[in-house]
Amino acid sequence: MNGIDLHIHSTFSDGTLTPAEIVMLAKQKGLSAVSITDHDTFDGFYEATAAGEQYGLEVITGIELSAVFEDVQIHILGHLTDDNPDVLRSFADGFKKNRIERNILMVEKLNEAGFQITFDELKEFSKEDILSRTHIAQLMKKKNYVPTAREAFRRYLSPWCNTYVPMKSFGAGQTIELIRNAGGIATLAHPVLYGLSYPELDEMVGELKALGLQGIECLYSTHTEKDEAEMLRLSEKYDLCVTGGSDFHGASRPDVDLADNYVPETVLENLKKLKKRL
Ligand code: AMP
Ligand code: MN
Ligand code: MN
Ligand code: MN
Repeated sequence: MNGIDLHIHSTFSDGTLTPAEIVMLAKQKGLSAVSITDHDTFDGFYEATAAGEQYGLEVITGIELSAVFEDVQIHILGHLTDDNPDVLRSFADGFKKNRIERNILMVEKLNEAGFQITFDELKEFSKEDILSRTHIAQLMKKKNYVPTAREAFRRYLSPWCNTYVPMKSFGAGQTIELIRNAGGIATLAHPVLYGLSYPELDEMVGELKALGLQGIECLYSTHTEKDEAEMLRLSEKYDLCVTGGSDFHGASRPDVDLADNYVPETVLENLKKLKKRL
């Protein structure tokens, strides 16, 4: 076996493969379990589970929620939630509205900056109903406004750009509580991607733990050895579960493949043990 992958995006958010295609690919690569963790939606789970049964691969529930902690936009992963968590579903519906409002404002700003992009074009560009900056970047590339999606992020879609509009999100504590109320395990996604130094991260993780955080994504596709060692240190210091995954997005993030044997099965066993203890 080649381990597992607990952080994957499908066409239900900003990935380019369907949940069934992801499960098939994971099976081909010899993974034994996956979790589809789309942004702010849970909807890919059912298709993934059906495919998992067909191909003989374990599929666990997952979601990646955007949240704010002080001034930092962070992402909280929820795993092993109930299979049909109403509480999460109604929350996710509110998020869809926030996304639409944010995207309309961002398209307006891009129009003011001279780009001819409409909200309807953007909607057509995404197959499902979660629209993200990834889709805006892809549309800008398709219209030859930028050479690559990465360049669209660097120049127009990141927090330092005039055309950027932040999304309204809930606080970290509330988001963690929501996942836990849905029966899930709440963990901090890709800790080193928030632009914080290690000491700043240490402080933030300590405060998130006090808010109910249960784990931290120490094993991640773009972590350096030093990042991984530092995050494992934080998991021990704050008694947090270790979790891990690739953040695979298919062709929207071509440099990242499904996790290749760096997330062992024991990670999932430990998450399940924690869930049982609670
Ligand atoms: P949103 O949730 O609409 O704010 O979009 C966030 C998504 O954009 C993330 O989940 C990533 O998939 C993608 N993203 C963020 N920053 C970058 C970047 N610098 N390059 C490429 N993709 C990015
Ligand atoms: Mn994404
Ligand atoms: Mn994320
Ligand atoms: Mn992600």
